[in-house]
Amino acid sequence: MKRGFCYLLLACCLMMSRNIASAQKKAGQYVLVIHGGAGTILKKNMSPEMEEAYKVSLKRALEKGYGVLQSGGSSLDAVEATVRVLEDDSLFNAGKGAVFTHDGRNELDAAIMNGKTRAAGAVAGVTVIKNPVSAARAVMEKSEHVMMIGPGAEKFAKEAGLEIVDPSYFRTESRWKGLQKALKEDSLAAAKSNAYTNPGKFGIINKDNKFGTVGAVALDKQGNLAAATSTGGMTNKKYGRVGDSPIIGAGTYANNNTVAVSCTGWGEYYIRNVVAYDLSALMEYKGLSVQDAGKTVIKKVGDMGGDGGLIALDKNGNMAMPFNTEGMYRGAVTKDGKIEIYIYK
Ligand code: ASP
Repeated sequence: MKRGFCYLLLACCLMMSRNIASAQKKAGQYVLVIHGGAGTILKKNMSPEMEEAYKVSLKRALEKGYGVLQSGGSSLDAVEATVRVLEDDSLFNAGKGAVFTHDGRNELDAAIMNGKTRAAGAVAGVTVIKNPVSAARAVMEKSEHVMMIGPGAEKFAKEAGLEIVDPSYFRTESRWKGLQKALKEDSLAAAKSNAYTNPGKFGIINKDNKFGTVGAVALDKQGNLAAATSTGGMTNKKYGRVGDSPIIGAGTYANNNTVAVSCTGWGEYYIRNVVAYDLSALMEYKGLSVQDAGKTVIKKVGDMGGDGGLIALDKNGNMAMPFNTEGMYRGAVTKDGKIEIYIYK
């Protein structure tokens, strides 16, 4: 009996040390990390076909970005190319497939940041730019500004030679149904709510209907970091509302001295906690690891009542993917091209 227990203990110890070894092997090995949004993503609500479709899409995006890095391309090129793939994919809440605003429009936000120079670009509330992440890059590289919004940003993108589409290009039936559901549920909740501090009073409470924002962080062969995020925001958001994604330091940040970060979740909480920059500051000023800094900032969001997640990749190739929702579409590639994809907790 006693001997049996000892064998069991030994086997457990061996298994544990093997797991620790494989985790250590991966430390410092990552070159690209992506997310496709966080939210109430439960295996029991997902058909095998749907799960497979998400995995195929995430893999396609990772392969695209990895290809750029492998051929010596910059992290900036890699995150832009990766996010463009996800924007063109109607499964995600970015570009085609974006969620609808309260008045039935698709208003898109995106940002990109270069960790080497800390140059950054962003667009918000755009409705006709096919790939908002490329418009963000154009703002960064072809203007003296960091952020442009609405019709001005669209005029600028057109002049920069980017593809312009009819607003109907972004529409998908499933997101339209999502809006109808949110309109019904939010108005019921708003009618019940009377606390001034309850966000339900203002309408944006249907947090389960928003996931699908996309983001990428990359480290290139020259040791440069970059981050990009693109989103349609939150279903039933008020006309003109801008979330955290295009706000540098809130939803997107990159700094070669520390880390590249892209966030997803209830944007108002990410703005108020300046999440992406806070993560970087914890690493820079407190010496925290990317994992500990990631956990700390997500806890802050959660303590305040917000939900979501983020991806972060440090200058040494260590990554973190913390979230406080049921799931987050996410994936990573190692230096030698090994792809990892995860959906649930
Ligand atoms: N953070 C985005 C926003 O608030 C939404 C999301 O990531 O799901 O606009």
